[in-house]
Amino acid sequence: MQDDELHFLEEQLAGTELLACVTCGEDTLHAHLEVLEVYPVGTELLMQCTHCQTERKWMDWTPTKPKGQEN
Ligand SMILES: [Zn+2]
Repeated sequence: MQDDELHFLEEQLAGTELLACVTCGEDTLHAHLEVLEVYPVGTELLMQCTHCQTERKWMDWTPTKPKGQEN
């Protein structure tokens, strides 16, 4: 794994996202638990609700390699 890619993953894990939680029934802050899969078009993450600790998958559609985009 390259250094900048590792740095990207660390940034992903450091942040939180406002996502709909089925258990809370509303949008709550979710913490990044784990990176499940990295695709060219985005990153699949395991997220955890900071209110009830329910875990869910979430797709972050931020391109992982913006400099390598081909149109
Ligand atoms: Zn919740």
